[in-house]
Amino acid sequence: MKLKILVTAGDGIGPEVTNEAVAVLQEIATLGGHEFTFTEKRIGGIAITTDGAPLPQDTLDAALVSDAVLLGAVGGNEFNSLAPDKRPEAGLLAIRAALGGFANLRPAFAFKELAVNSPLRPEIIEGADILFVRELLGGAYFGKPREWNRQTGVAFNTMIYTRDEVARVARIAFKLAAARRKKVTSVDKANVLEVSQLWRAVVIEVAKEFPEVTLEHQYVDAMAMHLMNRPRDFDVVLTENLFGDILSDESGVITGSLGMLPSATIGGKVNLYEPIHGSAPDIAGKGLANPMGAILTAALILRHSAGLEREAEAIEQAARKVLEQGFRTADLVRGNTAGLTVLSTAEMGAKVRATVKEVLARA
Ligand code: NAD
Repeated sequence: MKLKILVTAGDGIGPEVTNEAVAVLQEIATLGGHEFTFTEKRIGGIAITTDGAPLPQDTLDAALVSDAVLLGAVGGNEFNSLAPDKRPEAGLLAIRAALGGFANLRPAFAFKELAVNSPLRPEIIEGADILFVRELLGGAYFGKPREWNRQTGVAFNTMIYTRDEVARVARIAFKLAAARRKKVTSVDKANVLEVSQLWRAVVIEVAKEFPEVTLEHQYVDAMAMHLMNRPRDFDVVLTENLFGDILSDESGVITGSLGMLPSATIGGKVNLYEPIHGSAPDIAGKGLANPMGAILTAALILRHSAGLEREAEAIEQAARKVLEQGFRTADLVRGNTAGLTVLSTAEMGAKVRATVKEVLARA
């Protein structure tokens, strides 16, 4: 298997965590005889300082000819006074738009060992494993017309979807559910919004192509509550852009730590993979960053850009095993550290790699 990966490590802890993600991918390549090539380019604050723009043209050109883009994180306090379109985050928005991915996949899963970090009771979250599929290019964030008229004191946005926009993201959700626990929960507000009535009608149509997958509908307000009361009941959760933004963040509490969560944006020209955390300037360069979010993002690259499901699962299993064995980065330790071993970023990466090797050898 050949795979060309562009690594845009970015700022703060971005380079530290992407180093570990790349090292895991290299390990997988060596073990399986795969040919993964890695090209590094700048994005975000480091690109502003070096190239004068948050997304240099040569980074974008390299992204468009790669099979997958792995992004670390962008941002830094020294750029906070710049105008929004000049800031590091503008580079992230620009690369997302240029790659054109419309389906944002964001898992929310509970690690038994980290239940202590979640505000939810362990018996509620244990075993929860949800995959959010959020439509990323439509809805109120992009809909026109939009305006804030300061004279009249009136502001509005347009929540708009076409049949095709709904169908293409729904198809991705059903395909993913077919390979998981075979259930899609589609979230809308069809009791009030016409745009949600279209959403629901199209999702019902697409569901007919996947008879093995069960479809249920939930109103977004009820769903916000169900996710906290009974997260184990959900498999794939399909949402439009705004609802997905809110619900996927809410579900972060199931995992209990920002440093553990990966994401993938698929369906466009090139898939974009990134841990969900930011550049964490407060801990950058100290070896304190948790590389798990980035390493689990590497698993998503293998699953969605390489078709290497066994290897993707090996990384996910290794992450669980390492936690079971009591290894933690500093962000995962609350209070009592008895029985726990606190590791640096690089030590945690090495531990996961060694465990991936064991898992694959046993499989
Ligand atoms: P953040 O995610 O960087 O940090 C929030 C808190 O979580 C901090 O205390 C940080 O130390 C901790 N944290 C985050 N990731 C961690 C990890 N892997 N291991 C251990 N601890 C971790 O969010 P923020 O502080 O709001 O933003 C910092 C900068 O990052 C800002 O410039 C912001 O714009 C940017 N940002 C970038 C992205 C992105 O690149 N996708 C996302 C969010 C924020």
